[in-house]
Amino acid sequence: MRIATITNWAYSATVCLTLASGIVMLMASNADNTERRAVEQRQIFDQLTDAVDEDAWALSDLARLYVIGKDPEVLNAYRQHESGLKTIDRRMAVLKDAGASGEELALLRSGLEVVDALQDEQQTALNDIANGEEKQAVSLLYGKIYEQQLDLAQDRIDHFHQMLDNRARNAIADATKMSRTLRTLSEVMVGLTALLFLFVLGFILKRRVLRPVVRLSDVVHRLASQDYAVETPNFNQIDEIGDMAQAIRIFRENGLVRQQLERERDADWAIRELLARMTQRLQGCENLADVVNVAELFAPNIAPGIAGRLYILDRDPWQMRCVAQWLAPKGSAEPFHPDECWAVRRGQSHPPVHGEPDIACYHLPELSHDETLCVPLIAQGEAIGLLSFQNLNHETAPSRAYLELMAEALGLALANQRLREALLEKALYDPLTGLRNRHHLDDTLSNQLSQAMRNKEPLSCLMIDIDHFKTINDTYGHEAGDGVIKSVAAIIQRVVNKSGMAFRYGGEEFLVLLNGMDDAAANRIATDIFNGVREMTLRFGVSDIGHVDVSIGIASYPEHIQSDNLLRAADVALYRAKELGRSRIVSFGMLEQPLL
Ligand code: GH3
Ligand code: MG
Ligand code: MG
Repeated sequence: MRIATITNWAYSATVCLTLASGIVMLMASNADNTERRAVEQRQIFDQLTDAVDEDAWALSDLARLYVIGKDPEVLNAYRQHESGLKTIDRRMAVLKDAGASGEELALLRSGLEVVDALQDEQQTALNDIANGEEKQAVSLLYGKIYEQQLDLAQDRIDHFHQMLDNRARNAIADATKMSRTLRTLSEVMVGLTALLFLFVLGFILKRRVLRPVVRLSDVVHRLASQDYAVETPNFNQIDEIGDMAQAIRIFRENGLVRQQLERERDADWAIRELLARMTQRLQGCENLADVVNVAELFAPNIAPGIAGRLYILDRDPWQMRCVAQWLAPKGSAEPFHPDECWAVRRGQSHPPVHGEPDIACYHLPELSHDETLCVPLIAQGEAIGLLSFQNLNHETAPSRAYLELMAEALGLALANQRLREALLEKALYDPLTGLRNRHHLDDTLSNQLSQAMRNKEPLSCLMIDIDHFKTINDTYGHEAGDGVIKSVAAIIQRVVNKSGMAFRYGGEEFLVLLNGMDDAAANRIATDIFNGVREMTLRFGVSDIGHVDVSIGIASYPEHIQSDNLLRAADVALYRAKELGRSRIVSFGMLEQPLL
């Protein structure tokens, strides 16, 4: 019930009780009046009855006195009393007016009739005296019958008197009782009014207002300092306090929602920042290993709790190869055919919608659809890799859009890496032979020389030139010449393999750097190359080119030279080999008069 309603009810009840107690007090005062009137009536009755009694006895006494003494003054007094004596009806009327009941009046009437009869006998006795019959008069007024009638009249008047007395006493007692009862009732009502007032004051102010207001004030204080953990009091009453509690509850719920949104927004910002940083780092990557490192570091931070693998698409063999993984994903990291992934097949994230029935990727372990997401890494419309996520229903999982953004950034980085590698290959490798080109040599030579000097290790250089190559070109054509260059380069590469580095120096000339090899070791490699080329039979289409020879010049650091003119020395040795008739190996150390 609302406080206003309670207050109104209490106010109405207090007013009613006050009015009722006022009325009862008036009634009590009225009862006092009734009591007073009853007392007055009793006095009136007493006076009237005493007058009747007195008159009856006075006349009788005066008549008796006269018949004995015959005193004329007594007779006079008798006559005066007699004339003053009121008739029965007048006395009855006065008593009736004074409030005597019918029964009482009947009793009085019977008494007064006896008094009247006595008066007749007194008259007879007075007449007897006047006639000189004194004896007869005395015997009449002092006789037994007269005495009995006198007693009878006295009895009736006494009885009437007693009745009036009783009635007046009862009326007074009733009026007193009524007055007391009403007074008590009035006091009870006043008491009730006071109690009601105190109850309303206590209940409303303390229980319904003060206590809830103190609690609500505490809650409001804590909410103002953004402490939304505070429990709002559950005042379900339908009143102003209930309304306030409800408003505070709504305010707290709104605050909690706002706090949650702020948390989500902050987490969102943190993820965006991480994504931006990851993209920046990816832009600085120089090779695939850098990209893998960046992915392994950032992925578990961008998507906490989400395990995953990064695959790249190899062309030979045609397969998805896992290059990075984080947070221990389930299943094997073995390579798989790209068709085993529905995301790669369709060129879109898979499954497209979470929680709806869809086909599972075959490369994944048995996991629920809600837990996995495959995002293809696309570059220029082609899948070049794959990001595969697990535990997607983890509570800290970011939105799918962020995972797709991560895939986009990694896809771009991998594509850049591929482009970079292709450009590097073009810049550093000879397209015809696949050997390193002259640009590559410039860097490599200075590095290897300084390394050899630092480590005090030998470094040898072979300069190889195909003999009479121009004739081949001229005889079989330029294309055939290309074929010969390729074949010689393949033999050089096969012999050198991992023991050194082979370069196409220009035209039909090749260069080999043999790190850690002295002149003797370099001579063995040169001999293998020389023999390998010589044993080779060359054909171009239907034409039989036959055999080709090479001349090889060798120079070694530190045996032949001390500074960085290793190439020059090898070139001088080659020149000498050509001079000596070609198809041979000449070491710089064999020269009688070194030019350097
Ligand atoms: P020598 O025994 O003194 O080395 O004589 P040579 O004919 O091998 O040497 P020369 O320098 O006279 O001729 C080299 C020729 O190689 C000239 C050039 O046209 C040819 N040549 C250079 N580069 C290529 C190439 O990439 N392909 C083809 N087919 N020919 C090339
Ligand atoms: Mg040449
Ligand atoms: Mg040549």
